[in-house]
Amino acid sequence: MKKHQTYGASTNAVRTYSDGLKQRRPLSVPILQSVNFEAESTAKLGKDFRAGASEVYMRFGHPTAQAAGEKIALLEGAEGGLVFSSGMGAISTTLLALAGSSGGHVIAQREIFAQTFTFLDTTFRGLNIETTFVPADQILHIRPLLRPTTKLIYIESPSNPLLKIADIAAIARIAKEHNIPLLIDSTFASPALQNPISLGADVVLHSATKFLAGHSDVLCGAVVGSRQLIQKIQRMQVLLGTILDPHACWLLLRGIKTLGVRVREQSTSALALAQFLNEQAVVERVTYPFLQSGGSYKIASRQMRAGGGVVSFELKGGLPAAQKFVDALKLISTATSLGGVESVIEIPADLDFSEEDLGDAAKTTGIALGLIRLSVGIEDVADLMADIRQALASVASEGTQADKSLALTR
Ligand SMILES: *Cc1c(COP(=O)(O)O)cnc(C)c1O
Repeated sequence: MKKHQTYGASTNAVRTYSDGLKQRRPLSVPILQSVNFEAESTAKLGKDFRAGASEVYMRFGHPTAQAAGEKIALLEGAEGGLVFSSGMGAISTTLLALAGSSGGHVIAQREIFAQTFTFLDTTFRGLNIETTFVPADQILHIRPLLRPTTKLIYIESPSNPLLKIADIAAIARIAKEHNIPLLIDSTFASPALQNPISLGADVVLHSATKFLAGHSDVLCGAVVGSRQLIQKIQRMQVLLGTILDPHACWLLLRGIKTLGVRVREQSTSALALAQFLNEQAVVERVTYPFLQSGGSYKIASRQMRAGGGVVSFELKGGLPAAQKFVDALKLISTATSLGGVESVIEIPADLDFSEEDLGDAAKTTGIALGLIRLSVGIEDVADLMADIRQALASVASEGTQADKSLALTR
């Protein structure tokens, strides 16, 4: 540090001289809220700048983001990791970095996060990058669809909101055969339940807003992968300015400390609620990766440690019944997003479909108009079950007395 005793008050007011923290080893990563860092010389600044050091300029990288990125890479078993200002920041930056040149081609699972689909279907298409969308149940038959220009394969498992399960290891084998990177949005599993890198995926993406941060108080995203791919993605992150700010990094790091216990509890409660819903006569269909009667249990139980915190279901009576049910809930909040400690519920079609083409949208996305997505928090499961039971009862009784099949089984 340069000498400071001889400077005036205005100079001292804008200068920080404490070297104290460097001698300490805080158990909580400090928020390093500095946009730039002083270098010993112009030569050193130039060297650090070119090397992409994390103590140069905040948009290029900064120590709190580095700590968060390394933490998630560690949890995923990856060489490197980056954190972003949102899940979509992570996804758009990664797609642009790995497939963002005109004439390229992408293969993507059809059942993916709605805005990821829009990005590929409109933004990428506008840049002359074509995406072939493949339904999850056809994703192992993509060999004939691969082209010399195919830049990446993109999947999401479990998918939002249909909870489709992709056989990650099997798709990774196809990707490896053709030397094409496999990207997976693993938001719904979080690193606590699934580690796609160990199954052969090349890049794992997260909306860290959800389970990783876990407290519905910070918007963030993450990407992990090999050092080489992460470097490429980081160069695009610098251009787009999608890095996560230090305060948000700190909230993310703080949330991650309890990831394991939260997700275990959420999974246990979600399984109990899925089983309960599955027994109700008023319920048409329940989807949950670890429901043994479900079609995806075999693959899900092979690649996930538990089923996660999200349950999707439909009621007999479709959208009107779904709306009645959701509005009758007293404890579970009607809100979007998921993965937080509070239970929230939404009807995805209400959010993602425009009023004009509801029917078409339901057909092309496979998302029924009355589909309900429940994200289970860490409240007492008995309270959640009681809330669901009373709301189901109000659906069954209201205006449907004639239909005996809608009566609750208990
Ligand atoms: C929420 C979500 C995203 C987008 O993340 P944001 O943090 O909201 O930008 C992407 N993928 C999945 C699966 C999600 O659930």
